[in-house]
Amino acid sequence: MTKLLERSELSIDWEMFELLTQVPGAPGFEYEVRKVMKSYLAQYADEIIQDRLGGIYGKKEGNRNGPKILVAGHMDEVAFMITRITEDGFLKFQPLGGWWSHVLLAQRVDVITNKGKRIPGIIGSIPVHLLEQDQKEKLVKTSQMFIDVGAKSREEAEEWGILPGDVAVPFSPYTECEGGKRIMSKAWDNRLGCGIAIELLSGLQDEYHPNILYAGATVQEEVGLRGAAPAAHLIQPDLFFAVDVGPAGDTLGLQDGFGEIGKGMLIRVYDRSMITLPRLRDFLLDIAEREKIPYQFFVSPGGGTDAGRVHVTGKGVPSVAIGVVARYIHTHASIIDKDDVEATKAFVLALAKELDYTTYQSIKNH
Ligand SMILES: [Zn+2]
Repeated sequence: MTKLLERSELSIDWEMFELLTQVPGAPGFEYEVRKVMKSYLAQYADEIIQDRLGGIYGKKEGNRNGPKILVAGHMDEVAFMITRITEDGFLKFQPLGGWWSHVLLAQRVDVITNKGKRIPGIIGSIPVHLLEQDQKEKLVKTSQMFIDVGAKSREEAEEWGILPGDVAVPFSPYTECEGGKRIMSKAWDNRLGCGIAIELLSGLQDEYHPNILYAGATVQEEVGLRGAAPAAHLIQPDLFFAVDVGPAGDTLGLQDGFGEIGKGMLIRVYDRSMITLPRLRDFLLDIAEREKIPYQFFVSPGGGTDAGRVHVTGKGVPSVAIGVVARYIHTHASIIDKDDVEATKAFVLALAKELDYTTYQSIKNH
């Protein structure tokens, strides 16, 4: 990794990542993330385009006869929607995206009103003193849970501006771990991909690339890869690279898992939503080997990414998911390793500089 660190064009704007992870972006409510994306894309792109669900992409034309390449993260994070306010002022909620109820009780959230105000709350839990023995051993369902914002009544909660249909996101500050190499925060899945898209455009500022590049982020990935469809229709890419975060399999209690943090960027070869085409995989391996970028293969039998949606659009779009692994994704605080983010930036820069029309032709299945 030392070699990568020494290359100045690979330095990462960590302040930008902090900003990106900390804004709220429940599925369908990505507007604050989009605002941050827009402010950065505007600095580096020739043009900014948006689809009608809110996906946003910066275009940079390197060679107008080259293939059209889309590199995208997704702006949404796993979150909650308020469904009902009880008489005594508690908020019932519906999870948005995949949550395991074990990780929810006693966690802090921010409720976001339709005026954009953040109202702090906590997912209420029963003190251990009041639990029966069999209750202690059971999983509490999310349908039994509620958010407590400290309101005395429904009227008070409504006066504060809370309404059914509003959303709540995890509260979890961006925190550098001791040693400076790892960062814990909410929303690494997938502000990582949003930030990499921006880093890619910024890294290409004074560089030739033999293609038309679109870099940005979709919406509503966490609720079933929904925003990837309008993105594909809008841009009609020849190749698609989803930049996303996979679950790290390197902690206690996990065996035979894929993905260790700090061991390099991911090349996802299989998940529930897609099989990576062999020539595309080989092209990626060649780049990683030649540029000496640390990488690891990744398989996720239960997961999927936007690539799963985009690759089956139009006449077929050769696609792959790359990115990093993070520990504890789909919880309040996941941990990434800075080296992996640098490796991912180096990788997307190298592939954008390499992908010309001939290479694209050779990647398609014949
Ligand atoms: Zn996710």
